[in-house]
Amino acid sequence: MNPAGEGLVLAVPMRFEARALRRGAPAARIVRTGMGGRRARTAAGRIGHVPGRVVAVTGFAGALSAEMEPGDVVVATEVRGADEPLECAATELVASMLRRAGLRVHTGPIVSAPRLVFGAERERLAATGALAVDMESAWLARGCSERPWAVVRTIVDTPERDLHRPVATATGAIRAYRTLARVAEVLARWSDATGSRKVLLANPRASCAGVERAIDVVERALERYGAPLYVRRQIVHNTHVVRDLERRGAVFVDEVEDVPEGARVVFSAHGVSPSVREAAEMRELDVIDATCPLVSKVHAEARRFSRDGYTIMLVGHAGHDEIEGTLGEAPDSIRLIEDIHEAREVEAEDPNRVAYLTQTTLAVDETSEIVDTLRERFPGLAGPRTDDICYATQNRQDAVRALATECDAILVVGSPNSSNSMRLVEVAERAGCPAHLVDGIGDVDPAWFAGVSTVGVTAGASAPERIVQNLVTSLTALGPLEVMENDGISENVRFGLPAELKG
Ligand code: SF4
Repeated sequence: MNPAGEGLVLAVPMRFEARALRRGAPAARIVRTGMGGRRARTAAGRIGHVPGRVVAVTGFAGALSAEMEPGDVVVATEVRGADEPLECAATELVASMLRRAGLRVHTGPIVSAPRLVFGAERERLAATGALAVDMESAWLARGCSERPWAVVRTIVDTPERDLHRPVATATGAIRAYRTLARVAEVLARWSDATGSRKVLLANPRASCAGVERAIDVVERALERYGAPLYVRRQIVHNTHVVRDLERRGAVFVDEVEDVPEGARVVFSAHGVSPSVREAAEMRELDVIDATCPLVSKVHAEARRFSRDGYTIMLVGHAGHDEIEGTLGEAPDSIRLIEDIHEAREVEAEDPNRVAYLTQTTLAVDETSEIVDTLRERFPGLAGPRTDDICYATQNRQDAVRALATECDAILVVGSPNSSNSMRLVEVAERAGCPAHLVDGIGDVDPAWFAGVSTVGVTAGASAPERIVQNLVTSLTALGPLEVMENDGISENVRFGLPAELKG
């Protein structure tokens, strides 16, 4: 392992700031640029020749927002003030590292001004959406772009407590100085984690046919009927999808009782129990059903077995939306089995008339152990006509198992409440590869990559491919990547839209 920050280049205007950085990152190479745009322009040419793997432009800045305090950190999403604004790709990764270190972090544009700005001039800059102002970053950043780079400034003064007030200035400078040393420590860890790597993409990965259909249902309903469009529960278990649809006018509610009478509501891909349908009818809601057809199949099987007098062992996770819906089809006949211990203990009214069903997104290997245990206990155990664990779950688990043999670590893109994504993490780990669930680059801890030369990336069936691509792009903040894709089966399953949205 390198000493802290050996590959780190820090560009900083003042000696005082450089001293703080030296405390946090003793092995970093520090380029003192001097204050102001003219000196920064000259220094930008020098930065490119300083050896190192990552570059950070840092130092103090003035806050443009009254909500910030001296000692806060601003990580630039873009720097403005020179010719064209320059966007930064490493912002989320660096900001999340700083947050994990316990710092108060803001992300947004930083603007570089030709002189110190106060009063009305700060107000004018704040109105442009910039969060902080300095006098160098816009030019210095131009000298960094050959390597992963970031602009990270600590706040020394605010609109209310600006540099005209000596006491406030001294207090702000001490806080900004202390924070800067901690920022340098984090930047050193960032640089220690950088290096050239191979990224291997699982195949198949990401959205399945049921998830694509459910998202399509909400998008088309919004186009056709306009906002607000109510959706019961998360349409699919992915925070990015939900946020995006919210922005476009979808209103996510927990229960149909939260929907105004007579309004339109979409049922999510995970399905609903008959009692939810009845409640929707009572409120005279206009229902569009985005339940995945493969979940509807499990509901139909539950009704059939219950009608034929079976006790149904439903293998799945308590509280999951899909399980709640299936349980509601035959609450008196169904016993929920969450693990092998429950399979060993469960009793049935008539041991000769027992059937099993499963949640569609379980781990295939674990589920077959549970079903085998049930079969030992109830030899006549009946099952679904075709496996309930759906094609997408099976394929993604096979693909991540193959990936695990070729990678040193795996990132599974998915939200924490996504069952199929969690199962991919477990399957990879059972196959011997450390795996981490990430909703985006902000969840990635660079410490995971110590000694890692090949990183596998996959995604649960509820995560759209664009989030995978965004993650891979953001991983360039950890050094150059060679991106390759595993061979795999191609999926051509498509589900038609509900009748009311066709045409
Ligand atoms: S994971 Fe399978 S059951 Fe779930 S929505 Fe996708 S296709 Fe349907």
